[in-house]
Amino acid sequence: MVQIEIKLDPVPGADGANGVLTSKHSAVLHRHLDHEFLVLDQAKGNYLLLEDGRKIIDASGGAAVGSIGWGNERVALAVAKQVLAAPYCATIFFTTIPQEELAKELIAGTGGDMARAYIVNSGSEAMEAALKLARQYYLEIGQPQRSRFISRERSYHGITLGALAVGGHKARRAKFEPLLMDNVSQVSPCFAFRGKAAGESDTDYVHRLAVELDDEFQRVGPETVCAFVAEPVVGAALGCATAVAGYFKAVKAICEKHGALLILDEVMCGMGRTGTLHAWQQEGVVPDIQTIGKALSGGYQAVAGVLVNQRVVGALEKGTSAFVHGHTYQGHPAGCAAALEVQRIIREEGLLENVRQMGDLLEKRLRAQLAGHPNVGDIRGRGLFWGVELVADKASMTPFPDADHVCMEICELGLDEKYSILVYPGGGSVDGIRGDHIILAPAFNIKPDEIETIAATVARLISDYFAAKGQ
Ligand code: PMP
Repeated sequence: MVQIEIKLDPVPGADGANGVLTSKHSAVLHRHLDHEFLVLDQAKGNYLLLEDGRKIIDASGGAAVGSIGWGNERVALAVAKQVLAAPYCATIFFTTIPQEELAKELIAGTGGDMARAYIVNSGSEAMEAALKLARQYYLEIGQPQRSRFISRERSYHGITLGALAVGGHKARRAKFEPLLMDNVSQVSPCFAFRGKAAGESDTDYVHRLAVELDDEFQRVGPETVCAFVAEPVVGAALGCATAVAGYFKAVKAICEKHGALLILDEVMCGMGRTGTLHAWQQEGVVPDIQTIGKALSGGYQAVAGVLVNQRVVGALEKGTSAFVHGHTYQGHPAGCAAALEVQRIIREEGLLENVRQMGDLLEKRLRAQLAGHPNVGDIRGRGLFWGVELVADKASMTPFPDADHVCMEICELGLDEKYSILVYPGGGSVDGIRGDHIILAPAFNIKPDEIETIAATVARLISDYFAAKGQ
């Protein structure tokens, strides 16, 4: 038995001193080149400890990643043991026990609706694999003319070229449009806040969207479509927009009618985030292919995955070859060990029940403290996945101009000592339709007093921000 002693020393500050790291000091090509960086030193429970001494409550699990909080020794030990036992596995030759156990755990979590798991390292990789699996499925069943995808506007499915091509996040696509595959077309998302007409019933709205999707199949030729791609609860692009009841049943029926697959992207909303292990379990549909990530390993390692049903697996089994895909680091043993331990903790500690209960409490508190604010247009979400949409004018739901960077400024203000809270920004777009929102997505084992702190702090943050702007 290996004894592992972990000593936690604070990291030295920039230039050896406590202070902010500016882009001048950073050796990393960061996304924001002109930024001052806060240095994360340690993370414990639901708190982030910065190198300058600040203690921040993590109300968004980073980027909706943290699912069991930070500093869990059971997971750390599982990873350490795996690294010492076999740190790497060339999956072209071998599998490992943690990879097999993780796949079994994931399949069991679908009640057997999905047949196999494919473990990769990021949500974008999972989406690339999902798209290629759909294409190969149709080759194997003798329908090579199927090479198109239909997805939704104002969506986000990842940052790599294939994932970006099915995504409808205009700002993230804009500079790379000429590189994106052109066999993708998009329909409207199910976004009641901005998409539903005044006085329109849920049934009529769902019907209208279903007709739009069906028309799109007809327009491009139903026999050319591989799959319809959608996120059950839209995270980064729309700020936790849940679908109207019946929407996913309607789109699944259209996919079936045209013989196309349904790919659900649950990278952000899945693995328990919305109160059931998979968001589709609340929609009454089962996807053919599903992507997962973020809460899967809860941030302890870079792990994501694809779950594939028997229809697709069966075609590959009978087909000309195994899936023509692969990454050097896929099925990484330490990643699998971390994800497996995190998933066991979620199951053994009954954390999904806590997601539902704390989600209800968070919703109540957010509505009580924020719904009346003149710049809060909408509060929406499910489980521990809540978005607050910010508007310039409440009655007309007019969004702020992109140039105002409202959600980013609010998130940055949140990190000020006065608030010490991490919330996740979203919104702004090149066409200005989408609006600004912040996302709250705390860990699944969050406690009532922490929910109270989060809701009260977010309310104070939003009201102070707009008060300072004179709004
Ligand atoms: N799909 C969705 C729905 C996401 O939210 C994200 C990441 N925010 C991705 C895919 C891409 O995941 P990653 O950043 O791990 O590549």
